[in-house]
Amino acid sequence: MQAEAAIDRFLTIVSTFSRELNTAKKALDVYHAIVKVLRRFFDIHSFCVLEQKGPSDWISIWSDPTFPFGFDELTPYVQLAQERRSFSIYPLDEGHLLILPSLKSGRVVSVLMGYLQDDPEESLRENESVVGFIMFFSGLVLENLRLYREVLDSAAVQEGLKKYYQTMLDSMDEAISVWDENRSLVFTNQSYIRADPSESILEIIKDLVTQSYSNRNHNTLEKEIAGHFYSFGTVLLGNPDQVLVSMEDISNTKELERIKKLDQIRTEFVSNISHEFRTPLAAIKAYAETIRDSFGSLDEETGQQFMMTILEQSEHLEGLLNRLLDFSRLENQAMRPEIEDFDLIEQVRDVEQRVQKMLQTYAVSFSIETKLPEAVVRGDPKQINQVVFNLVANAIKYRDTKKLERWAKVIVEESEEEGKVTLTVEDNGIGIPEESADKVFEKFYRVDTSLTYSVEGTGLGLAVVKEILDMHRAVITVKSQIGIGSSFSFSLPKAG
Ligand code: ADP
Repeated sequence: MQAEAAIDRFLTIVSTFSRELNTAKKALDVYHAIVKVLRRFFDIHSFCVLEQKGPSDWISIWSDPTFPFGFDELTPYVQLAQERRSFSIYPLDEGHLLILPSLKSGRVVSVLMGYLQDDPEESLRENESVVGFIMFFSGLVLENLRLYREVLDSAAVQEGLKKYYQTMLDSMDEAISVWDENRSLVFTNQSYIRADPSESILEIIKDLVTQSYSNRNHNTLEKEIAGHFYSFGTVLLGNPDQVLVSMEDISNTKELERIKKLDQIRTEFVSNISHEFRTPLAAIKAYAETIRDSFGSLDEETGQQFMMTILEQSEHLEGLLNRLLDFSRLENQAMRPEIEDFDLIEQVRDVEQRVQKMLQTYAVSFSIETKLPEAVVRGDPKQINQVVFNLVANAIKYRDTKKLERWAKVIVEESEEEGKVTLTVEDNGIGIPEESADKVFEKFYRVDTSLTYSVEGTGLGLAVVKEILDMHRAVITVKSQIGIGSSFSFSLPKAG
């Protein structure tokens, strides 16, 4: 019976104590509960709780006003608690001191002390097991509360870090996005949201993500989309296995590069063009001076010859100026094509007439090859005439003087693509080096060889060709081999 009563009592105490602990939010609540339950067994006068802040730095977190010891007097008892590391009752000169240490990883981190005026010997003996259990139980709760606080603290630290990195990423101009292996978006910074990527950009980003997952590597890409240049880069994040994609609009940088290059080309152009102007001007000046100085003594034939040279050189200068003017008008978009139906072969024949003199001067033969009786296409006949003229003039100018037979020909034929006619200008001239093939269409570009520089030019002819064909939505292609020859082709839609 006695045993049953003891068990009942034990259970009642434990359940009351558990209820108290259930609502405990902080260590002090646990100490309050312990104090409450201890008072059932011991006649405790007053309490005090000390907590460790640093290696030898203790503070009192709670003390009854009637607790008879000052903080400084408690140091030896704290040491005692650290040595014993378990519940103990220590006799004093007057009364007893109950010491309850709380441990973390085997180290004493706080101590509850209770002052008892009477000897607790008997009550301790009777209730030893219950007190032992309560001490053990409250130790666990204190440890859990501490862990809980640490988790909260570290969650707060993490939250702070997250905010810190988010602010950093948001302040970047680059649009950052993070993708998982299902190509689903898991993170974006503000720049990405502002950029609001279009469908085509998203496609590129997703392809890069797939590529990075498959080659497990960083990937970069530069692409022009809707008139803007973008630079993309990916980074594998590892854990978790995700891919970060950065995207930057580099149109301004590209534009700057373009302007710099243009600037350099312009400088070269100025020196080229001065040379082009100087030669005919020097000739005109020299002949005009001769005529002035020996006006009376010149026979008529010589005078005529001199006048002819002056005229030819003036015409040449006029031609140069006209090309420059045409080009600047094209550049300013003042020469929109006036689209109509016209016979391409007729224009080629016209060009053939215009280049007769050049053909003689450079000793080049010319032919038109076509099986078509006519090739009526849609376009601006004047502008296409200029395109053909520039191409044919180059085919003649850049002849190979080492070859005995030099030829230039224009081929007009049905395109492989239905509904179009292709025109090809071919020559057996000096050819264009592979690395220059794309550049010949740039403004003021001339292939840098002595062969080219022995021929007069401005580096504008093919830029004009490209500009005009661009306006016609036609593409010009070039095939060339040094020492063999070159061929330039473009296609126009048939009329009707
Ligand atoms: P240019 O006024 O110098 O002829 P173009 O724009 O017409 O300017 O041509 C640019 C450069 O391309 C030329 O300087 C020359 O080096 C090269 N080129 C053009 N056409 C030919 C060709 N048919 N054969 C060889 N080189 C050519």
